[in-house]
Amino acid sequence: MSLKGKYFDFPKGILWECKRCAKCCRDASYRERKILLLPLEAKQIARTLGFQIENLCRKTGLQPFTFEMKKDSEGNCIFLKGNECQIYTIRPLICRFYPFWLEKRGNGIFSFNVTEECTGIGLGPLMKDDLFKKLFDMAIGKLNGKRRQ
Ligand code: SF4
Repeated sequence: MSLKGKYFDFPKGILWECKRCAKCCRDASYRERKILLLPLEAKQIARTLGFQIENLCRKTGLQPFTFEMKKDSEGNCIFLKGNECQIYTIRPLICRFYPFWLEKRGNGIFSFNVTEECTGIGLGPLMKDDLFKKLFDMAIGKLNGKRRQ
């Protein structure tokens, strides 16, 4: 599938609905959760909340995800209260994509992958091309610094 001259593929036959378990917002016994942010996302969250960026995330030294969200002593995202995200409307791309994530393969094609750890996999509606087009468009827009949401 292509969008704006870029090609991507995605997993077929995936049923998914969010169970609001917030598993994606915290570390698990078997893995550390890295909540990576693009620079414009860190700036937007900081500006919206009136925070300094260094109060909510640390530099990763990576590109394009130059920041990582801070977590509390129990490994929860600092914006997780109970199972509720306190910045849901401005949450970063990596949170909007979950349980999917996007990677660029050697041949320049982007691939959506899915993690089976999400409790909502196998439940709910079939994930179709329109969802992945929307996510891909959002990613390209944010990576080009053109989109906030
Ligand atoms: S920003 Fe919100 S959705 Fe993302 S990890 Fe934190 S609490 Fe979860």
